[in-house]
Amino acid sequence: MHHDVIVIGGSYAGMAAALQLARARRSVLVIDAGERRNRFASHSHGFLGQDGVPPGEIAANARRQLDVYPTLTWLEGRVEAATGPVDEFTVTTSGGGTHQGRRILLASGVADRLPAVEGLTERWGKAVFHCPYCHGYELGQGRIGIVGNGPMSIHQAELLTAWGDVTLLVNGAVELSQEDRSTLERRGVTIEEAPIDRIDGHADVATADGRRLSFAGLFTATRTSPSSSLAEAMGCALEETPMGIQVRTDAESKTSVTGVFACGDVARAPHSVSLAVGNGAMAGAQVHRSLLWPATLAPMQAEGGAR
Ligand code: FAD
Ligand code: MG
Repeated sequence: MHHDVIVIGGSYAGMAAALQLARARRSVLVIDAGERRNRFASHSHGFLGQDGVPPGEIAANARRQLDVYPTLTWLEGRVEAATGPVDEFTVTTSGGGTHQGRRILLASGVADRLPAVEGLTERWGKAVFHCPYCHGYELGQGRIGIVGNGPMSIHQAELLTAWGDVTLLVNGAVELSQEDRSTLERRGVTIEEAPIDRIDGHADVATADGRRLSFAGLFTATRTSPSSSLAEAMGCALEETPMGIQVRTDAESKTSVTGVFACGDVARAPHSVSLAVGNGAMAGAQVHRSLLWPATLAPMQAEGGAR
């Protein structure tokens, strides 16, 4: 079957887009590998009407509602390749199956590169976080440690002072100018230079010089990049943000490749469920518009869209 749209990634952004398209009675194929970025967290916060709900529950509820639409097909799996010109895209899954579609919508999310600190990965989403709006409130204004991971850690330390008593654990990973130091001091941030040996307990930091610093929670500024190389392989232009690499899109969610759209974390920052859903809904409508008025498919300006 030749679908109007193939949505690659069926999480918050992809489902929000698919919902608009299915409600416009378009044939939509959603292919999803089931690895939502927030799968490490027990609860999702900050999404209106769903505050404190487990991430998987939000997704399962949305999925049930999507299942009602007869023109929507859901496929569990991973897309390995996507090729072809507009109106005749072919997508190949890891199982070897091929699917045809007139448009591609990438909603495949990003992956976080975590700092290499012993004990950190196991606590990701549980006691180590990156987004204060998502997980800051629950720390009850307690002690917060920032695990240094590049220049964004300075900004993160400043920001987190709104949620608790902050220590920046430099860990040899953040270069601090005299100006940075006085800014942080003014905000009441404690600067800890001793390298981190490991994290244990709930969020205890064992320093290389033998001390143990206990925190209500830890934050770290991760670097993100597209969780799949599909966009790059299709020739979509990428761009740098302070958080990492994303697919370049214009205000209509178009990438630099005609007929390929992108939405959610893979296409915009900052990142949250609300913003992914909002951007997904917009992208769904824009893809629909391109089916009704193919002239709007003209590739985005070389300068890229402001966002
Ligand atoms: P994702 O949710 O990452 O989904 C991408 C989907 O695409 C996945 O299902 C993936 O398997 C699939 N996919 C990728 N490649 C392929 C492929 N080749 N073929 C098929 N499928 C593919 N935000 C909040 O608002 N509140 C929170 O409390 C919160 N907590 C977080 C906690 C943690 C630890 C992290 C890391 C993030 C958190 N976030 C939170 C951010 C939130 O998870 C993201 O903003 C959101 O998931 C982005 O949605 P998305 O649909 O763009 O991408
Ligand atoms: Mg996405």
